[in-house]
Amino acid sequence: MPEPRARTTNWAGNVTFGSPRIHRPRTVDELRRLVCESTRIRALGSGHSFNLVADSEHDLVRLDGLPSEAVVDERNSTVTVTAGMRYAELVTALDAKGFALANLASLPHISIAGSCATGTHGSGDDLRCLSAAVRAIQFVGPEGDLTWLSRDEDPEVLPGAVVALGALGVVTRLRLDIEPAFRMAQRVRVGVSLGEVSAHVEEVFGAAYSVSLFTDWREEGMVWLKHRTDRAERGWDGGRPARRQVHPVPGMPPEHSTEQRGAVGPWYERLPHFRPGLEPSAGRELQSEFYVPRASAEAAFTVLRGIGHLVAPVLHVAEVRTVRADDLWLSPAHGRDCVTFHFTWHSDPVAVTRVLASVEERLLPLGARPHWGKLTTMAAADVIGTYERAADFEALTHRLDPAGKFRNAFVDDLFPRV
Ligand SMILES: Cc1cc2nc3c(=O)[nH]c(=O)nc-3n(C[C@H](O)[C@H](O)[C@H](O)COP(=O)(O)OP(=O)(O)OC[C@H]3O[C@@H](n4cnc5c(N)ncnc54)[C@H](O)[C@@H]3O)c2cc1C
Repeated sequence: MPEPRARTTNWAGNVTFGSPRIHRPRTVDELRRLVCESTRIRALGSGHSFNLVADSEHDLVRLDGLPSEAVVDERNSTVTVTAGMRYAELVTALDAKGFALANLASLPHISIAGSCATGTHGSGDDLRCLSAAVRAIQFVGPEGDLTWLSRDEDPEVLPGAVVALGALGVVTRLRLDIEPAFRMAQRVRVGVSLGEVSAHVEEVFGAAYSVSLFTDWREEGMVWLKHRTDRAERGWDGGRPARRQVHPVPGMPPEHSTEQRGAVGPWYERLPHFRPGLEPSAGRELQSEFYVPRASAEAAFTVLRGIGHLVAPVLHVAEVRTVRADDLWLSPAHGRDCVTFHFTWHSDPVAVTRVLASVEERLLPLGARPHWGKLTTMAAADVIGTYERAADFEALTHRLDPAGKFRNAFVDDLFPRV
C-alpha cells in the first residue's frame, strides 16, 4: 500500500514532493510489477537532497522495505548491496569482515543508491566520489525488466549509468569496490588563516588521506586532517592543535562528531564527520555546493574571501574539500580534479537565495558545477552546458527509457524532450 501523503518532505523539510503516492514494495517482483504498471515513477532514497531531484508528479517508490543484504566477494574485492541500504548499515558489516570502502561522505546516514545517483563525495586528493566505486549496477527498466550493467561487460555504458539522477530506472543493487579494512586518526587544527590555506592549497589538502577546511569565509577556519595509520603522510602544522573535540558548526554538540585528537579507530568512524549512531537533527539548514577545477582553487578562495561579510551572516558553516577526477558522465568531478566549496546555510530561503546568487556570480566564471542534490539558482541549461558528455547521457535516456517513464521536472529541465 502507498504511504499517506503527509510524509512527503525531504530530510531538511525545505521541499515537499509533489507525488500523490509513495510505494514501499516488499519484494523485487512487487517493485517490477509496480514499475511496469506505472505511467511515470521515480525512486526516492533517504531524502537527503535539498531540491526536487527525486520528485515525481506521479509515483514515488522507496526501497527500504525490500530485504537488505550485503554480499562480499573477497576474490574480486567487491561488495554487492541492496540499493536502499544506507552507508551507516553497510560500514560496520563490511569492517567486521575485514573490508573497507575507500571513501565516505560527511554523513553516513544517506542511502547508497541515492548518493551514487548524485555523485556524492567525501574529501581527499586521491579519492574520487562515492559513485566511482560502483563496479556494476542492477536496475528495473520501464517494462519491469531487471538489468545488470558492469564496468567489465559494458565499459561504454556504465560511466553514463551511475550518476543518473534516477532517470534510467530504479536501481536495486550496486556492486562496490572494497579494500582491506584500515585504521585512521583524526586531528583538528584551529585558528588557521584563510590566506595561508589559499596560498598553500597543495600542502594543506595533500597533508592527509582526507582533509576538510571549515570556515565562515571571514578570516580563519579549522582544518580536519584524517590520516591512515598504514600510510606515511606529510602532515601540516598551520594554526594550532584543537585542545578539545569540536563540531563543524560552532556551538553544536561536539559528541556528534567522529572522534578527534589523534585517537586511532576504524575507517568508518573517522572518514565521516558525524558518528554512524547519531544522525544530526534535521530541518534547520539548507545546503549548496560547487565543484571548481583544482587549477582555479586559489581564485575561488580570493573571490569567496571578498564576500565573507555577505556569506557569514546566513551561514552555519562552509566546508572546502578535494575530489579526484572520474569518468562518470554526469559526475560534477567528470574529467577534472576539483576543489569543492560547500555552504551549510541557515534555513532562510529568501536571504540564502540572495547570497547564493552572489556566490554563483563569482564561482561560475571559474567553471563551477553545482552539486546535483543541493541548492542552486543556476539555469538548468547553464548547468548541463558544463558537462562534455551530456549529449551521450541524453541518448542513453532515450535508449533505456524511450517513453520517459523515469523523468521528472528536474530531468526535463536538464534534457528537454520536444
Ligand atoms: C546532512 C547532510 C550531509 C550531506 N553530506 C554530503 C557530503 O558529505 N557529500 C556530498 O556530496 N553530499 C552530501 N549530502 C548530499 C547527499 O549526499 C545527496 O543529496 C544524496 O543524493 C542523498 O542521498 P539520498 O539517498 O538521500 O537521495 P535522495 O535525495 O532521496 O535522491 C537523490 C537522487 O537519487 C535518486 N535515487 C535514489 N534512490 C534511487 C534508486 N534506488 N534508483 C534510482 N535512483 C535513485 C533519486 O531519484 C534522486 O534523483 C548531504 C546531505 C545532508 C542532508
